[in-house]
Amino acid sequence: MSTAIRSQDDALAWASAHAASLNEGAAHADEAISVLGAAGFFRIGVPSALGGSGGSTADAVDAIARVARRSLTAAFVFWGQRTFIEYLLQSDNAALRARHLPALLSGELAGATGLSNAMKFLSGIESLSIAASPAGEGWRLDGSLPWVTNLRRAGFAVAAAVEPTDGQPPAVVAFLSGTPGITRTDDLELLALRGSNTAAIRIEGVVSGAAELIHADARSFLPRVRPAFLSLQCGMSIGLARACLAAAGASGSAVRAGLQSRIDALEASLAHEIEQLQAGLASGSFATQAAPLFRIRIRLAAIVREAMDLELDATGGRAYLVATTGDFARRWLEAAFVPVVTPSLTQLHGELERHAALRAA
Ligand SMILES: Cc1cc2nc3c(=O)[nH]c(=O)nc-3n(C[C@H](O)[C@H](O)[C@H](O)COP(=O)(O)OP(=O)(O)OC[C@H]3O[C@@H](n4cnc5c(N)ncnc54)[C@H](O)[C@@H]3O)c2cc1C
Repeated sequence: MSTAIRSQDDALAWASAHAASLNEGAAHADEAISVLGAAGFFRIGVPSALGGSGGSTADAVDAIARVARRSLTAAFVFWGQRTFIEYLLQSDNAALRARHLPALLSGELAGATGLSNAMKFLSGIESLSIAASPAGEGWRLDGSLPWVTNLRRAGFAVAAAVEPTDGQPPAVVAFLSGTPGITRTDDLELLALRGSNTAAIRIEGVVSGAAELIHADARSFLPRVRPAFLSLQCGMSIGLARACLAAAGASGSAVRAGLQSRIDALEASLAHEIEQLQAGLASGSFATQAAPLFRIRIRLAAIVREAMDLELDATGGRAYLVATTGDFARRWLEAAFVPVVTPSLTQLHGELERHAALRAA
């Protein structure tokens, strides 16, 4: 790490200073997790008995939002890391947790969540992309994960869902980058968020067994972790919307152009969604009723879009000049990611329609 990180403010300052670099290329990609880890960000919302600093999932959402306000790339790798940590917290496999949690919390090990495929599988959109053939006491894994973020070259752990070929239920397993049969491709050529260590993984003849099992039944485990998975994602939208609204408000033309009342109204809508999110997390209701959380994620994505438009409206032509665009151009590209990250808005709308049809039937 090139900079000494002593506090969360230090890490936030690092994210601000490197936001453009993290968006445009891989120069600082391998530092982000170490910086956030050194500042204690991954311990937030993790019980102190397990090495965390206590607090709740809502506190972790707020932490991701604070980082997203500076850099969506840093916030996205934070999301991947914290979500992987969440899988271990909710896993029955105490030995697996004890083995990896300390290095994940400190940021020495990068944790990646290859579970988009599994989340889409749950919704009946895709079949699972990793086959698990019985071999000895465990399995032989073969397949691929076409998109995984936070695959730090120095080493990473990945969570993925696998489909046993003998009819057993789909399971969720972890594997490490050094395991024979795991190949990380070069980084994908992304439009933005290029410092997120996003690549594909090929899995060929990987030996796996009880020691690597996060959960034996993906169909019960995934809905259990989905509230944290989605809520932590909401932190990304909250932070990015706050950055756009702050930039719109700080622009001298906002008042001149009569935009202030729209900025104020959108800030109020954002505060309302955050309250709803916090209330659902505090009551635990998202575990049994996913639809309200889906709606919050959809509305937050709409708020990001509107906030981005307000920043553009307030900045005017300066937003289109390289010399004066400031952080606008980066945020514009970052914002394009919000609707496509799994579960995508299209998928969430589809889920809500399915819920409504089931209720009507
Ligand atoms: C920068 C970046 C980083 C990523 N990192 C990760 C990661 O760390 N881990 C990971 O697992 N994945 C990751 N992904 C993958 C991502 O979340 C999606 O899975 C991936 O973009 C491909 O799926 P899709 O849904 O976009 O595309 P498609 O499956 O081609 O679908 C296109 C659109 O149609 C919708 N759709 C398709 N079928 C249906 C249906 N039957 N009902 C309703 N809607 C439907 C989709 O939701 C999507 O909106 C990443 C993607 C990007 C761009």
